[in-house]
Amino acid sequence: MTATTPARRPDAAPRAADWVSCPGCGWLLYRKRLERNLSVCPECDHHLRLGARARIELLADAGSFTERACPPGPADPLAFSDLRDYPDRLAEAAVRSGETEAVVTGTARIGGTAVVLAAMDFGFLGGSMGVEVGRRVSAAADLAVEQRLPLVTVCASGGARMQEGVLSLFQMARAGQAYARLREAGLLSVCVLTDPTYGGVSASFATLATVLVAERGAHVGFAGPRVVQETIRAELPDDFQTAEFLLAHGLVDRVEGRAELRPLLGRLLRLHARPEPDAPAPAAAPAPVLREADPWDVVQRARVAERPTTLDHLAGFDDFVELHGDRTHADDAAVVGGVASLGGRTVVVIGHEKGHTVRERVTRNFGMPHPEGYRKAMRLMAHAEAAGLPVVTLVDTPGAHPGPEAEERGQSHAIAETIMRSSRLRVPVVAVLTGEGGSGGALALCTSDSLLVSENAYLSVISPEGCAAILWRTASAAPAAARAMRLGAGHLLASGIATSVVPEPPGGAHADPAEATRLVREAVAAELDELCRLDVGTLLARRAARLSRIGGEDARPLRVVAPGGDGRAAR
Ligand SMILES: [Zn+2]
Repeated sequence: MTATTPARRPDAAPRAADWVSCPGCGWLLYRKRLERNLSVCPECDHHLRLGARARIELLADAGSFTERACPPGPADPLAFSDLRDYPDRLAEAAVRSGETEAVVTGTARIGGTAVVLAAMDFGFLGGSMGVEVGRRVSAAADLAVEQRLPLVTVCASGGARMQEGVLSLFQMARAGQAYARLREAGLLSVCVLTDPTYGGVSASFATLATVLVAERGAHVGFAGPRVVQETIRAELPDDFQTAEFLLAHGLVDRVEGRAELRPLLGRLLRLHARPEPDAPAPAAAPAPVLREADPWDVVQRARVAERPTTLDHLAGFDDFVELHGDRTHADDAAVVGGVASLGGRTVVVIGHEKGHTVRERVTRNFGMPHPEGYRKAMRLMAHAEAAGLPVVTLVDTPGAHPGPEAEERGQSHAIAETIMRSSRLRVPVVAVLTGEGGSGGALALCTSDSLLVSENAYLSVISPEGCAAILWRTASAAPAAARAMRLGAGHLLASGIATSVVPEPPGGAHADPAEATRLVREAVAAELDELCRLDVGTLLARRAARLSRIGGEDARPLRVVAPGGDGRAAR
């Protein structure tokens, strides 16, 4: 692996000059004005590169950074020499950057939350990772584990350092195992990907963080664009490997301008600080209010375009940071998710999203997920489990997307795996059926400890139209099919599939969306109060018993099986 970086002009002009030429648009910018603008060109929004100290100043609360003293590492393990001796290059890099290596680490506070912070300096030999960088980054992760602090890294690197040969390459493994322990400890890690991040850094700790935030305009990839172009000899898209390209391909959670980085980190860190809610005594569950409803009326109300969607429900939560992408292929707009706060409790939320207007509904594929939507859901579930956060799902989909591309990418497996993982998640899972519950595509997000069903929502093995077309031989028999299949909250509750019913305002949720979302929030908060009291063993045993009982003759109330658990330790 070589230091592969995009062909870009090096950082700004000499320190003394009052004027800087923007590498993006060539405009001459007054240095002081540029610095006031966080080194973002006011003319073209080009984000100029920043050194490690400037990054720390940008992100950490004023005066909160304490650098970790790092004893000097092996200076030149291979006694490497090309046109110049490696020690000479190191000495020159130190003078030019003012740093002793390509990464600066320490502790700091961001938005009031204590963190371990590691910032890379591209000005030090292109931010390349040799043994010392690997050592410092791994030590930062170890420190985070030891002090139970989140780890924030800011990456800028051309890749592994050639002058340290294969020793450099193996720093990827060293950093990888350090991050594995961070994940096992349930600690949050956030990586800010800045321009440029490539090669051995990109393919190790830079992309192993729980949350990946790319700075606007940053180029991030494995192989540099010149290498890619010379290998495949084809034109690359203009946005190849840009932050925006990464977001569209599901590879990062968010793209942010420089000014938005600090506030976003502050929110994420606060959400993961997990303050205990003021444990209110759980209210006795009110008897479900269930108005008699004709199944066909329920189907029609569940489909009303003005009915609150997942994002409407989340807008009423105390905070919500949306996280994007499946880290593999794409960001499916039909499934939204992220980290949210509800009643003082942080939760991971995942839901189908339909949108309201025609344009929104087309963009969101009418709430019909592709496999990448379910893979995003699984990624977020894994984060919830690692961080010990409960999961809340909001279900509203006509079904999973039926199409050749979904089949090519394994729709069945994506749904099956989502169901399986949620059946054994070691954190509470509350599902709310808020609208349409179309078949397996809905069930993927319904496998839970509690299934709350909105008064005008339904779960169905096939759409009433589909059922009518097959069995009645005409889709116009849909109302009869809806009644025959007993669609609606009443049957779900009676059969033990739903655990409670969430009332809706008279006329349906669309008649008073604000009230409808409030009722859902309250129901979810009450459910969480109840479930979060259970230890992991009880939770899993109850969930298994609940799922096994569905369709059986035993419709008795929930029984707690094997109190104290399944033999494994609770977190
Ligand atoms: Zn510019």
